[in-house]
Amino acid sequence: MNAPLPPEVLKQHLIDPEICIRCNTCEETCPIDAITHDGTNYVVDPAICNGCMACVPPCPTGSIDNWRLVLKTEAYSVEEQFGWDELPGEKALPDTVSANSASDAEEIVSVVSNGGEDADSASAPTPVFSPSGATIPPWSAAHPYVNLYGHKTPAVATVVGNYRVTDEDTDSDIHHIVLDFGNVPFPVLEGQSIGILPPGTDAQGRPHHARQYSLASPRDGERAGYNNLSLTVKRVTEDHQGQPARGVCSNYLCDLARNDTVQVIGPFGNTFLMPNHAHANLMMICTGTGSAPMRAMTERYRRRIARGTNGRLMLFFGARTQRELPYFGPLMKLPRDFIDINLALSRDAAQPRRYVQDLIRERAADVLTLLQDPNTCIYVCGLKGMETGVLDALRDVVVQSGEDWTILHDVLRREGRLHFETY
Ligand SMILES: Cc1cc2nc3c(=O)[nH]c(=O)nc-3n(C[C@H](O)[C@H](O)[C@H](O)COP(=O)(O)OP(=O)(O)OC[C@H]3O[C@@H](n4cnc5c(N)ncnc54)[C@H](O)[C@@H]3O)c2cc1C
Ligand code: SF4
Ligand code: SF4
Repeated sequence: MNAPLPPEVLKQHLIDPEICIRCNTCEETCPIDAITHDGTNYVVDPAICNGCMACVPPCPTGSIDNWRLVLKTEAYSVEEQFGWDELPGEKALPDTVSANSASDAEEIVSVVSNGGEDADSASAPTPVFSPSGATIPPWSAAHPYVNLYGHKTPAVATVVGNYRVTDEDTDSDIHHIVLDFGNVPFPVLEGQSIGILPPGTDAQGRPHHARQYSLASPRDGERAGYNNLSLTVKRVTEDHQGQPARGVCSNYLCDLARNDTVQVIGPFGNTFLMPNHAHANLMMICTGTGSAPMRAMTERYRRRIARGTNGRLMLFFGARTQRELPYFGPLMKLPRDFIDINLALSRDAAQPRRYVQDLIRERAADVLTLLQDPNTCIYVCGLKGMETGVLDALRDVVVQSGEDWTILHDVLRREGRLHFETY
């Protein structure tokens, strides 16, 4: 059993700014809002964090799992952490902290910093579920490799394809980009993402941090049997408030030419993974580039149609117009008995505005059948704002049938069957 920390000592929770990919997962997960960020770093407020560990498992990079023993009066402030380029080293505790207490405290840090693996059962972290989705993968998911390549040792990939997948005359410039890893091992699974290190420095002269992109290709490659993968990247030309802004990494990626090389870190993600068992159903709900993981999973299923082991595929896909829907052409060529496609167009002159949640409600009977099947996994990816609308629609479908949504929602999370990736 670990002794309590000396009263004057704090086990301070810190985020490694060199590894963090600024994905916001930890800030969304923390139940007491101890994590915050500025334009540069994600940081933990020592005055709020209670060390509950809820944020540690979902962090895709492990950058969240850093702890330092400090005197409470010398805890690193939020403002100090915003200015960091790298984590500070360990500081020796002053002699005034009793020798025994200090060594107990150091033991506690080592237990916490390995994710609690060495802790006894009484102190092991309990699984924590985010308010909306699961933080564990489906039971039959393949085991993913994560964090094989970091900032200091990125993998180098070569661009072997880069073309636009939305109509030229639309504002939405989305590219399909194929990266080849040659002989460099880069094993991935559908639902995972990679980090791209854009060249150059930010306004403070620091190297740009990595941006995360979901895989759009299945585990055996964009071209089956090749060591390559694809991404679906939207060129950011305005910020979230609609003001003109040139996104650093998305513009870099969309402008790449064949044979250019890019620095890649990752892979990331160990929960938004597809089931592997026979007859598993996929319900996929996405908007825009959120279609990337859905393309990867659908292609995995398409390549094994002949086996006859596929379950049902149901897709809800939202965009402003058909011409802004990435991969519209190839998607519509898929056989109707292979995938049930539901397109929600919000700016189509010929139709009233419809969003994915409207179509989920319209297809209530089929959605309910899938939700009640324990072989169904549900994936939601795309705009941050869609999460609430989709959850409300799923809840309505269940409640209208006389079932209890709270119970089903809890089952879906506990069984790793409901996953969100919104950004
Ligand atoms: C898990 C995860 C998966 C992701 N997968 C994909 C993917 O498959 N395809 C994809 O294109 N992107 C994806 N993203 C988003 C991607 O990581 C970048 O955030 C995005 O490309 C913008 O980066 P940037 O460097 O171009 O813009 P920045 O230089 O970082 O930002 C420029 C300005 O634009 C704003 N901004 C940032 N992102 C957007 C946006 N999407 N729309 C509008 N304004 C924005 C910023 O607030 C800032 O004001 C994913 C993000 C996460 C966390
Ligand atoms: S350990 Fe708990 S309280 Fe601290 S930042 Fe993580 S989730 Fe929040
Ligand atoms: S990489 Fe980890 S620490 Fe950084 S923002 Fe994402 S979850 Fe938080």
